[in-house]
Amino acid sequence: TFRPQIFVLKYYSNISTDRHSDSPPIVPNLIGGSFVDSQSSHFIDVINPATQQVVSQIPLTKNEEFKAAVSAAKQAFPLWRNTPVTTRQRIMLKLQQLIRRDMDKLAMNITTEQGKTLKDAQGDVFRGLEVVEHACGMASLQMGEFSSNVSHGIDTYSIREPLGVCAGICPFNFPAMIPLWMFPVAVTTGNTFVLKPSEKDPGASMILAELAMEAGLPSGVLNVVHGTNDIVNAICDDEDIKAISFVGSNTAGMHIYARASANGKRVQSNMGAKNHGIVMPDASPDATLNALVAAGFGAAGQRCMALSTVVFVGDPKEWETELVKRAKSLKVNAGTEPDADLGPAKERVCRLIQSGVESGARLLLDGRDIVVPGYEQGNFVGPTILSGVTEDMECYKEEIFGPVLLCMQADNLEEAINIVNRNKYGNGAAIFTSSGVAARKFQTDIEAGQVGINVPIPVPLPFFSFTGSKASFAGDLNFYGKAGVNFYTQIKTVTQQWKDLPGGSGVSLAMPTSQ
Ligand code: NAD
Repeated sequence: TFRPQIFVLKYYSNISTDRHSDSPPIVPNLIGGSFVDSQSSHFIDVINPATQQVVSQIPLTKNEEFKAAVSAAKQAFPLWRNTPVTTRQRIMLKLQQLIRRDMDKLAMNITTEQGKTLKDAQGDVFRGLEVVEHACGMASLQMGEFSSNVSHGIDTYSIREPLGVCAGICPFNFPAMIPLWMFPVAVTTGNTFVLKPSEKDPGASMILAELAMEAGLPSGVLNVVHGTNDIVNAICDDEDIKAISFVGSNTAGMHIYARASANGKRVQSNMGAKNHGIVMPDASPDATLNALVAAGFGAAGQRCMALSTVVFVGDPKEWETELVKRAKSLKVNAGTEPDADLGPAKERVCRLIQSGVESGARLLLDGRDIVVPGYEQGNFVGPTILSGVTEDMECYKEEIFGPVLLCMQADNLEEAINIVNRNKYGNGAAIFTSSGVAARKFQTDIEAGQVGINVPIPVPLPFFSFTGSKASFAGDLNFYGKAGVNFYTQIKTVTQQWKDLPGGSGVSLAMPTSQ
């Protein structure tokens, strides 16, 4: 049987020697350029969801260690902000090269700790890598503006300056991509950073931090601490932290947004989702069915942009029959197995499927009792399809975050759009149609931040921004793209006067104007 490889990464070389030799490795903090063991006596197991094996343990970083990380970031800031942007870019250029070099190591770590398939784990890294590539052009992205001669001999210009120490709090579902949405943009604009990875899969963050150091990021510019609610609250309350990037659930995100904003911090908070796809009767059958299966069940439905609800306009019967056929052919297995389509995912999922059945939805395909040979302990759920779902059902109102596709029905496009718009979330929505008229109406009327037209998962590349809306986002400056640069910088506006000033014009107390 398969035994997952536990990576003995360079950072694990700091593991304290007094622990019993067969205990799992402890993930260190990164403080001021050194990977150091926490002195904490409280740990959380990082578990391989395919086998339940303990891969490593994270410490609940102690408050004084957290303070030391913030202090290291604060100390590193003055020199780092004055480091030429071209030098900062070059470190990102090197980092993107190192991420490519270690792509397989990162992907294997993600599959071991998070469960997604190796191919999907590569995509997780690649989508983050693209943000690093974008950060390599920061000199242009961070440019200010200049207006000459706004009054006689007077010019005004604006400068985008870094904020200081920023922090990032990450979810479990994209262990590489989401840290890479955060620290590359933050540090290349001249900030220093404290990263708190998900306690469920910290390994990718640690490898990335190690690569960032190898790429030449100076000590203290990027720091990593571990823990759960307490350390998150400490981040929200720390007066030296100027901005917080959060990605995760609404419960945590709204708490962090409220608490950190009340402390005067800038916050961008990307949260939960219920992404709908509307299928028009004229949609191309084969491409649409493939898109629905891929976007509903890919990554076992654990993507914030997973397409978890489909609204069929007209009679859904034929669509549903074909969907079941295609979903049945997917292979559920450990993410490390070459034929796996779906890795493990079980939490909450079974309860919400059952609640759907009890409230009257029809279970067209049930993936709850699946057993994967060789991985009998794994947290697997197979593709599941519920039909006849209505808006009052708990399985519809709550984010399931598993390989479950909910099917609804509407009589026309207007009605389908109204269903989507009544949902509290606004991350993504897609339409499948061959009608430009329907597509344009959808694009105009739909209340979602990221819209797909015959594209099931419309996640923008880093020269745009990730633009969730409604309950899927709190804040006003989104992740990456221009908005991401704006989030991590503040504008200083300078008005300069260089002219020979005529003497003897006297003192004028009137508001200066240029008329
Ligand atoms: P989560 O909210 O449980 O955890 C995210 C982070 O918040 C973790 O680092 C965790 O330690 C911390 N945390 C959790 N509860 C907390 C609390 N009560 N107080 C303070 N800190 C707390 O999220 P998750 O389960 O890791 O991730 C899945 C969620 O993330 C889903 O809702 C998904 O839609 C969302 N997500 C959204 C996006 C997006 O861009 N909109 C992207 C990925 C994931």
